Amino acid sequence: MKFDYHIHTEDSYDSSIKAVDLINRAIQLNYNEIAITEHLDLLPLEIKKYGAPSLDHYYKRIKELQSNTSKINVLCGIEIGDYQRVKEYALSLIEDIQLDIILGSVHFLSDNTNVAVPLKKPLTKEQVKDYYLQNLALVSQCDIDVLAHLGVYKRGYHYIPDESAFYPLIKDILATMIDRNIALEINYSSLRRGYPTFIPEIPILEMYLDLRGKLFSLGSDAHQIEHFDLYRELIPAKFCTSFRYL
Ligand SMILES: [Zn+2]
Ligand SMILES: [Zn+2]
Repeated sequence: MKFDYHIHTEDSYDSSIKAVDLINRAIQLNYNEIAITEHLDLLPLEIKKYGAPSLDHYYKRIKELQSNTSKINVLCGIEIGDYQRVKEYALSLIEDIQLDIILGSVHFLSDNTNVAVPLKKPLTKEQVKDYYLQNLALVSQCDIDVLAHLGVYKRGYHYIPDESAFYPLIKDILATMIDRNIALEINYSSLRRGYPTFIPEIPILEMYLDLRGKLFSLGSDAHQIEHFDLYRELIPAKFCTSFRYL
């Protein structure tokens, strides 16, 4: 079973991927299932910059693609940014559409520092704590299928920082996810940005297994067609079982 549940296409402002090209490429590379997961970014600062989103057009577009494609299963998904901060608004937008997969992710610290873009300097300990607390709020308060890119702020680092001081907090996040049946995404977009490994890293994945976590998801988080499938082969096979087929 070859899958990727985190890909951006035409309805994400920062993606250049055409869904049709993506599907052809995925069939070529023997994928069984992919999820298109456009951004749903609803913080006031994002609405100001990119406008208020509507999902109707997106939903129709994916439904049409699905009906024209029998060689691969294409899921209609969404990546809700900072869901815990925009919960009612997000719920009002998704209530009428049948999404196959909902990713939740943290892009901003509580002071609105964007940690999903390359950072000028590494985060301070207080900022890292804030980042993980946002993730804890997200998995505790929101109904999502997958927690996306845990540790995203490290994507631009060229070394793996010592995060052992945050392991108790990370353990709380993982335990909450296990309780609430939320899958843990292994996101390998970090590798193409120069980080030495995927996120979260092996010690955190092992922590999740020790807590009896079983639900894994994989995401290239591709925004360009040449990034789809890139570095996927570096993920150990034991983490490559889809949570949707357990
Ligand atoms: Zn994201
Ligand atoms: Zn994404």
